[in-house]
Amino acid sequence: MTGIALFPSLSIYTMEPQHAQQHTNSSPGGNRPCNKRKEYLSWDEYFMSVAFLTAMRSKDPSTQVGACIVNADQRIVGVGYNGFPSGIPDEALPWDKTSPEGFLGTKYPYVCHAELNAVLNKNVESCRNCRIYCTLFPCCECAKVLIQSGIQTVVFASDKNRDEDVCKASKRLFELAKVQMVNYRPEFPELALSLRYPGDNVAAAPAVTARPLPTLTAPALESAADDRDAKEPRGKKGRGPNAGENGDVMLA
Ligand SMILES: [Zn+2]
Repeated sequence: MTGIALFPSLSIYTMEPQHAQQHTNSSPGGNRPCNKRKEYLSWDEYFMSVAFLTAMRSKDPSTQVGACIVNADQRIVGVGYNGFPSGIPDEALPWDKTSPEGFLGTKYPYVCHAELNAVLNKNVESCRNCRIYCTLFPCCECAKVLIQSGIQTVVFASDKNRDEDVCKASKRLFELAKVQMVNYRPEFPELALSLRYPGDNVAAAPAVTARPLPTLTAPALESAADDRDAKEPRGKKGRGPNAGENGDVMLA
């Protein structure tokens, strides 16, 4: 891992692809050739893929976020995506980013973020010393949850909202709490996933053999604010615990 100058005062690192360095093709004795596969996923590819796959469960039409918590033994201990609290039907609350009703007519007061859900879904007693793989850099509300849960490292794929206050606050919190931030840089931008082995039961396969993978979206926060600007007078912007200083900065 090498440091980058993106946030020079903060402990943010880029994570270089580890594919090549993890492949060795000799046995411990050195004499016998090892024929293990070379195409296997690295841990980082695997866990970030799980985070992105989990994001595909999201019902949010504008922003799909996934998170995957991993312990020191490389075991997944929790996953989450953004959605309404358990037991609430997906149709029972709005998914809109803006509403004539104001804040209560939007998704913001109701949606649980992916990182929060991953922590709450954990199947171990504690997340202490775990790391979390996030498709998006966490907002400050999730940052507080991650810090309190004992997570030591945040590996994130996108920090497209880095100039927003909610992300600046996260970075400040992570740095003060000595939580390491790692910007994951994949060796390949996409992962093709087959749900069967080649040649498996071809005759019984459905006529359409490939379900188009949904494209995940995470619009920049500015666009959400701009969208609201076009529809609401400035004084009517969202109000509430998740609203930013101007009521216009909210994640997911
Ligand atoms: Zn969040």
